[in-house]
Amino acid sequence: MKLNPEKYNRKITQLCPICGSSEMEHAEDSEIVKCIGCGKELTNDELIQENGVSIDAHVNEVKEELTKDIQKQFNDMLKKAFKGSKNIRIK
Ligand SMILES: [Zn+2]
Repeated sequence: MKLNPEKYNRKITQLCPICGSSEMEHAEDSEIVKCIGCGKELTNDELIQENGVSIDAHVNEVKEELTKDIQKQFNDMLKKAFKGSKNIRIK
């Protein structure tokens, strides 16, 4: 079995649509992916399609997290800016 490093960059687990097992066997030199749990055979494309919803959910989760982090940083920046101006007193 050849290792494809690109597959491990994306931390998305592909699950069998029949039994939900994450143990899928990728046959060499073939688009066929076989579920070790129930023996169901799918093409790579079918598997991606079946897992499409969960991949979308995963992407949305990451986006949400990123937006929150950016917002937090921006809020901190604003707070600091306002804190500075409060220290300025008109005599
Ligand atoms: Zn299965």
